[in-house]
Amino acid sequence: MRRYSIQTKIVLPFLLLFALVSIFVPLITVELFAWKYDEQFTRETQGWLNVIIETGFIREPIENIKQAYSVEVMIFGKDYTLNASTLTTLPDVEHNRTYLAEKLHLAQIKQNLESAGESHITRDVTLGGKPYKVFYHIMPLGRLYCMLRPMEQIAEARRTLTLYMLGLAILVIGLVAFISHRIGKNLTEPIKDLVGFTEQVADGNLDDQCEIKTQDEIGDLTIAFNQMTQELKQSRNKLIQAERLATAGKMSASFAHEIRNPLSSMRMLSQMLLQKPELTDDQTKSLQYILEEIGRIDTIVKGLMDFARPASLNLNSHSLDTTLQSVLSLMEANLTHHQIRLVIDFSPNIPEFNFDADKLKQAFMNIVLNAMEAMPQGGTLTVSTFQQEDNVCIRLTDTGVGISAEDIEHLFEPFFTRKDKGTGLGLANVKRVLDEHGGTVEIESTLGEGTTVMLCFPLRK
Ligand code: ADP
Ligand code: MG
Repeated sequence: MRRYSIQTKIVLPFLLLFALVSIFVPLITVELFAWKYDEQFTRETQGWLNVIIETGFIREPIENIKQAYSVEVMIFGKDYTLNASTLTTLPDVEHNRTYLAEKLHLAQIKQNLESAGESHITRDVTLGGKPYKVFYHIMPLGRLYCMLRPMEQIAEARRTLTLYMLGLAILVIGLVAFISHRIGKNLTEPIKDLVGFTEQVADGNLDDQCEIKTQDEIGDLTIAFNQMTQELKQSRNKLIQAERLATAGKMSASFAHEIRNPLSSMRMLSQMLLQKPELTDDQTKSLQYILEEIGRIDTIVKGLMDFARPASLNLNSHSLDTTLQSVLSLMEANLTHHQIRLVIDFSPNIPEFNFDADKLKQAFMNIVLNAMEAMPQGGTLTVSTFQQEDNVCIRLTDTGVGISAEDIEHLFEPFFTRKDKGTGLGLANVKRVLDEHGGTVEIESTLGEGTTVMLCFPLRK
């Protein structure tokens, strides 16, 4: 089946309908007027003829009648010979007796008049290429009196009117075609965009948004589609993240287990070696360096183990203030050392509620550490808590280096780090803890200005 675009489907039927209407309506109107006018004209001329007959004016020379009424007069004898005529401009052939009788249907007219018992009748006739309305009147001795009223001007007027009407119709059709084309285009353009965008989405590109060009149903459709694409993107990302987390969790658990034991032996042996009195300064330095690096590996391994820890929560009723405060007290000296001002704004109205204090402390600590690391030249860390409906939220804002838009999408991926000595497990752990609590983590950041991390989770009684 042929494919027609929506635009064609909208424009074509209307255009055809309009063309039909705008051509036929004027033509019918012209015909109707012509018919009415003709009727009026016939009645008027018939009136003249009646007056001519009744007043005996018919016996006057035909030239007088021509002058008085602007009509042509022809009188035919019983055998259709032309007795008299004011019409002198006929071509020679038409002056021929039989030809003229035939053209004016004289025999037929006479027969009609006689059989109907009428004295006059009207016919449209063309003579010398010009149209006439002919009024026949039967006279004594079978003669025929014909009064011819020229119709040329009327025919001309009718032709001109028809041409004007058709011209106007073509103009209007053109205009309608143009307008409906514009309307169709306006309607279908956003649909085409949307179709293009859908194909893009189908190809897996979920990053763009379709431009909303109209404030109508199509606009609503575009908004809904954009929203759907966005949600699709989010759920796809969540799925990828969940998958990565699961894999990383499994890997981390086995790695951590395998590394921890040899690591503690290495640490023990290094410490024992460090006790030896015969060590040179260089050897002592190297051993200290080894111990330092072992410490670093241990931190990573601990992070891995936290990350891989089973998801069971140890829920107990705690005070959120106290929990956060304990972490901050632990960090206080460190923050001061880094010239970071701490601003605390805890809501006084949050009651004690159920959460896993250890896990939350750890998540909170990871975020504070990140903030600290983001402000190497010092700055301000603001920590606030507040209640939002049935949720409790903790907001940490730093005035640090900020995060690029490109990085922000990867923050929760395990092992994603921009730090030389980072593990990339801090935020992955935060996410896991919040997920376990049925909560959310949101991070907003502006490069060079700072970062806000918001943790929200249900206030469980
Ligand atoms: P790590 O701290 O070991 O790098 P995280 O998961 O804690 O791993 O953080 C991942 C990355 O996110 C960091 O390397 C850093 O680039 C970025 N990041 C996290 N928090 C902040 C922050 N407050 N300011 C700037 N960048 C941050
Ligand atoms: Mg970190």
